Amino acid sequence: MRARSIVVGLWLLLSLPALSSTSFAQNAAPRASAVIPSPKSVLGFSPGADRTIADWGQIVDYFAKLDKSSDRVSVQTLGFTTLKRPLIVAYISARENILALPKYKEIQRQLADPRLVSGDLQRDRLIAQGKTVVVISCSIHSTEIVASQMSMQLAYDLATAQDFETKQILQNTILLLIPSPNPDGIDIVAKWYRKSLGTPQEGREIPELYHHYAGHDDNRDWFMINLKETQLITRLLWREWFPQIVYDVHQQGSNGSRFFIPPFFDPPNPNIAPLLLRQVGLIGHKIAADVQAAGFKGVLTNALYDTWWHGGFRTAPYFHNSIGILSEAASARLMTPSTVAPEQLTRSSTRGMRSAMEATTNFPDPWPGGTWRPSDIMQMELIASRSILSLAAKFRAEYLKNFFELNRKSIDQQPQTNSPIAYVIPAGQGKDEAVAKVISSLIDQGVEVYRLDKELHLTYGPQILQRTNSATEKLGSYRRLIANTTSMQEVPTSSYIIFLSQPQRSNVVALFEPQIYPNRLTAQGEAERPYDVTGWTLPLQMGIDAPAVTAIREIAAERKLTLVKDINDVRRDLALPLAKGEESPIKSPIMRSVRVGIYKSSAPNMDEGWTRFVFDTFNVPYSSLRDADVKQGSLQSKYDVVILPSQRLLMQENPQSTGSEETPAGLTDASVTGLRDFVASGGTLICFDAACDMTIKQFELPIRNVLEGLRSSDFYCPGSILAIDVDSTNPIARGVPPTLNAYFINSSAFEATDPAVRVVARYSKDNVLRSGWLLGESKLRGQIALAEIGVGKGRVVLFAFRPQHRGQTWGTFPLIWNSISTSVK
Ligand SMILES: [Zn+2]
Repeated sequence: MRARSIVVGLWLLLSLPALSSTSFAQNAAPRASAVIPSPKSVLGFSPGADRTIADWGQIVDYFAKLDKSSDRVSVQTLGFTTLKRPLIVAYISARENILALPKYKEIQRQLADPRLVSGDLQRDRLIAQGKTVVVISCSIHSTEIVASQMSMQLAYDLATAQDFETKQILQNTILLLIPSPNPDGIDIVAKWYRKSLGTPQEGREIPELYHHYAGHDDNRDWFMINLKETQLITRLLWREWFPQIVYDVHQQGSNGSRFFIPPFFDPPNPNIAPLLLRQVGLIGHKIAADVQAAGFKGVLTNALYDTWWHGGFRTAPYFHNSIGILSEAASARLMTPSTVAPEQLTRSSTRGMRSAMEATTNFPDPWPGGTWRPSDIMQMELIASRSILSLAAKFRAEYLKNFFELNRKSIDQQPQTNSPIAYVIPAGQGKDEAVAKVISSLIDQGVEVYRLDKELHLTYGPQILQRTNSATEKLGSYRRLIANTTSMQEVPTSSYIIFLSQPQRSNVVALFEPQIYPNRLTAQGEAERPYDVTGWTLPLQMGIDAPAVTAIREIAAERKLTLVKDINDVRRDLALPLAKGEESPIKSPIMRSVRVGIYKSSAPNMDEGWTRFVFDTFNVPYSSLRDADVKQGSLQSKYDVVILPSQRLLMQENPQSTGSEETPAGLTDASVTGLRDFVASGGTLICFDAACDMTIKQFELPIRNVLEGLRSSDFYCPGSILAIDVDSTNPIARGVPPTLNAYFINSSAFEATDPAVRVVARYSKDNVLRSGWLLGESKLRGQIALAEIGVGKGRVVLFAFRPQHRGQTWGTFPLIWNSISTSVK
């Protein structure tokens, strides 16, 4: 906050005591608006104009100028991104609210935690005084670039408008505007776009990940909180501001609807309060009506995107009793207009959308095709932002009350018999870094975690999925149960406990319980593709024990517990090196010197990025290996281990210079020869998931993928946690438990055609599904999940699954480290 504003504010407060807050703002605004620069006057172009782009430096500069010139705007730097750019948030509200941000933060803290509120009287006072806190976040996916440009116009409009509705918005709401949660990506895209202008590449997909590690997966990190950006924003939202509404602004493909708005499609996550889903629907329909009234065609609701998965910018808020809104505008070609001919419009039917040509109740006014401009996208996003803010202002008291009551319900809800009341992380598991990481992710998002300072007596057991129908049936039907809970057991000091009775009850449940995704099939009997993954249970991915607790002997007064406030307290407790500054404190698990190359293809690959993330986090050195390096050969002189991250790798003459996850990367005969020579002369080639296919075929390995070619009516597993049984005598399995949880995302299962194949792990024969959705489980039961095959003097290690999925699957990281450690004798 700026000294000038405080002085002016105090002066007005003293000199105009008789004025209501309405006239207060009316008096204040004209003085300030006279000197507020428009985006055009600073940038030299209007945001959203064809073939223009503001990079991050320009966006930060514009917001700094707004901060200086408008008393409705205050800009804060939250910290620095992965590539060291400033990450900013602009608070926008009436001047008197901007002057009192700490007061409103405190009101939000109490509304978010009803235990701090003495009764209904105090609740009503907080509701009377509070403001609806709204977050708008732009362009987390950097190629969905328009919203980042829109953010400057939105801020300017709110800083200068004098109409009644804007003043009501400013008085009743506090907007936290995040021009982008991925500033590094804004610059990557701006640089690429400027270079491409006027060339055949103009407006094309960018040939690199637009987040240093995660690319598009930067919006898959909101419960794991691996990335710097996610950490900074998560702490702002769920430890400081507790917004009632979070709006995440995206773009989709070019040939479908012009604008997708909630309500969402099925299935809903059962841990989301129904009231939230209704409120999401109300806001969505308000936006849809406003965009339609402004003359836009092609607005779609109730389709494509669902609320099942946890972990996105707009889905994580549901688990904090907050309303998450998503919009997906049809994309232009970055900032270049596109022309869509009617015959290019989508005609296929998917998840609630019949066709882009046909009017339906949830899509009443199809767009006929034509020219589509960045300014169209920007206008719709400005209207949507305004719709949300005007509802937030008009129904301020309802939003605050609903938020408070949902939080109260989370605390007061009585457990059903034999259902969890807490989850415990028992001490002495021997997986201290994984335990510290889980607790760090939880406390970053404001979940209460307690350390046992004295032992407790608990009834507890692992929460598992049990199949309730015949194991030979294709469609599984599962129920959750807590196993082995016959007696009270003592749980020692230094264990950690997470109670369900806290405002974030649904977050704790959604992170700790195994997911059961409903069997959803199309009319043709094929599996209906979910929006994202179906299972993500945190302790299962992390490979730690966190059983469900159903009873505690000690009454509250007898328990000696300490609330964990700082992750270093946990690290100290576990005798781990303390976290200091930016460096990861984790000690490398590789005890010897090994030269590792991680293949980075010309087609950007998120799995490659996450592989680098995991290696950097564990301080394991590596080099990136480009196509040219592989083709050149003599890899053995530089590397002991080469890793091919999961990616479809096809043989082709000219490897593509651009591509995406959907576009396979190309390898040439020369690169395969390079890899073969490397293995033949003693190297270790490690393949993750989809990369196995190319290796098996090109190396003619005696193993095949039994799932290849199966229709989704026979087998489907789109992102689930599966059990694998490990051969502990194999050095790759050294030190790991006999059964592990592996992440399977349309992955593989192998069958050996030669006894020379050394099997390290197989998918379990019983209870293979741990969390998520598995259709046709008999197809993979007992098949190979991890194998090692000798080739010449070296060997190939084939992971059928994703051992490092999104940096979340710590339980299977040791298999990677062991594969590397055993590469040199
Ligand atoms: Zn997106």
